[in-house]
Amino acid sequence: MKVATASCHVERILDDGAWGRLSRLLAGRPSGFRIAALVRPPDGEPEEPWLERVRSLDVPLGLHTHWTSPTHARPTGGDPAARVRREVDWLRGHGLAPRFFVGGGWYTDEAVREVVAGAGLVDLTATTFPLPAGGGRVVPGPAPGLLPATHTIGMAVRALRLPDYVHLYFHDTDLLDARRSAALRVALFQIGLRRPVLPLSALAA
Ligand SMILES: [Zn+2]
Repeated sequence: MKVATASCHVERILDDGAWGRLSRLLAGRPSGFRIAALVRPPDGEPEEPWLERVRSLDVPLGLHTHWTSPTHARPTGGDPAARVRREVDWLRGHGLAPRFFVGGGWYTDEAVREVVAGAGLVDLTATTFPLPAGGGRVVPGPAPGLLPATHTIGMAVRALRLPDYVHLYFHDTDLLDARRSAALRVALFQIGLRRPVLPLSALAA
């Protein structure tokens, strides 16, 4: 099936600059994309303004766990799976209904995948291309319970041919860079001309 979707790793909900750009982008549904927001929960940061902003989003929602700190995504100790379970419970306990999960720094392990599946979330923690930094899970394409990313912004802008399934991902921080932000809109426009656009929630169903 030919289809295109997009998701954003949202790390700076409380940063007014990043949030303003992100909320405008998502509300505008660029080129028909209802971009999924994969959110990093507060980590020692105030919860009320975070919740107010996330509740205002009208897009598919997912959890984006940063294990070590807001600026250090991958785990450096502890029990990574337990943290994911805790964060899913925290989101649900505050009335939010995440349907997706993507591990920070593309980290995953078997125990994390069990928690994600057990919580009924669709896993996005994989790519169909090798990451420049390495260390991620590379898969050939979507599978039951798994919707991998296929393109960065740069890859999408340069792509002459597209696979049947296209999943562009980016970070809210990309929006702080005017050139990257413009490239994202170009990429979404070009993909939207060539593939039917659906939200992740429709692909997961
Ligand atoms: Zn992240």
